[in-house]
Amino acid sequence: MDKYMSIITNFGCHGKCPYCIVRENGIDVPETTLEGLDSLLTRYVENDCNFISLSGGGDPLHEFRQHMDYYMKLFKLTRALDIPLEMHTSYLDAGFAFPVEEFSRVVYHLRDINKLNNVDKFGMEIVRVVFVVTEEMTVKDIDYIQMFVEESDKISELSFRQMVGPNFETQYWLHDYLKQGHEEGKWHYIEQNDYNLYYVNGQVYEKFSDIHK
Ligand code: SF4
Repeated sequence: MDKYMSIITNFGCHGKCPYCIVRENGIDVPETTLEGLDSLLTRYVENDCNFISLSGGGDPLHEFRQHMDYYMKLFKLTRALDIPLEMHTSYLDAGFAFPVEEFSRVVYHLRDINKLNNVDKFGMEIVRVVFVVTEEMTVKDIDYIQMFVEESDKISELSFRQMVGPNFETQYWLHDYLKQGHEEGKWHYIEQNDYNLYYVNGQVYEKFSDIHK
């Protein structure tokens, strides 16, 4: 099983998610700095990781043109050890201007089923979409998403993850149905356990909830 070092960035955010885990839980991720990358490889190696992902704290691709020095430094470091990279973003058009070819996988976080039509593949990257399951979501929605992804020539992976309420309690909307589909290999179903190590400007955390509250 892959072991991820998950870089939690804070370059700011569009703030448009209807439910924001960061806002609701008072997570205060410090602003991402260039120097914050200095111990990345040391922490990666000492923790026996084999993948690096970027997520937020905010959206890692928020105003990315202003943060290309950070990404150039990251690419230089990860190329040196041939480390595969994964990007988590909700900016569907970023690949038109951002070098997504540096990433093995791009995971698009979608808030609206209709946005599936806007997901693109820009090169050799694996494209995954992830939906946070809400109270309003129905089995029909889940089935529609699954069929869309199955027929798509751009999207090859699908995940559903449960919402986290204030105080980090996991919700269980459509839990049995999602679990069954996961077991049948139709999609990945992620309950909200901490399964990564989190890297924030040189510090490593085992729990997301421990990041600079
Ligand atoms: S991308 Fe993350 S930080 Fe930004 S609004 Fe959505 S949940 Fe909140």
